[in-house]
Amino acid sequence: MEKVIQCTVCENTDHCFEEVQEEYSSFMCFKCGFMSDTRFSNDHDRESEQNMSLLMNQIKVFDEARRIWWYPSVVNMGKLGMIFPEGSSKYQWQWKFAKVVPVKEGDKEAEGYKEKLDIENAQVYDKSDFISAIKDMGITKDLRNAKG
Ligand SMILES: [Zn+2]
Repeated sequence: MEKVIQCTVCENTDHCFEEVQEEYSSFMCFKCGFMSDTRFSNDHDRESEQNMSLLMNQIKVFDEARRIWWYPSVVNMGKLGMIFPEGSSKYQWQWKFAKVVPVKEGDKEAEGYKEKLDIENAQVYDKSDFISAIKDMGITKDLRNAKG
């Protein structure tokens, strides 16, 4: 079952969803791009800390009411590209959307590949505008459908 909730991170009340499963719930906000899960406790956080980037560890948010951590999403949609947070600190970061582009002849770094993620020319979005990145990626409609 799915319901709209108020986002813990950005407090938006229209774009944050809770997906209620039997054993747990997961949360996703399409406004600020943060996500969580009722299993993301302090223990879980300690375990995953080392697998996350420095930036992710800096910008994650603790949900006092639910006692869980919210993390910025990394959306990898294969051919549609990838959305990820990038920046130098908690105060200075933004969302980036990198498209998949054909590899040009002579591109040494991507030799042997037909396509690559165009990280250098990634589009930049404000940290409160994850929703525009998702729209540009072209998956808003699917998300809408998935969200009923
Ligand atoms: Zn939010």
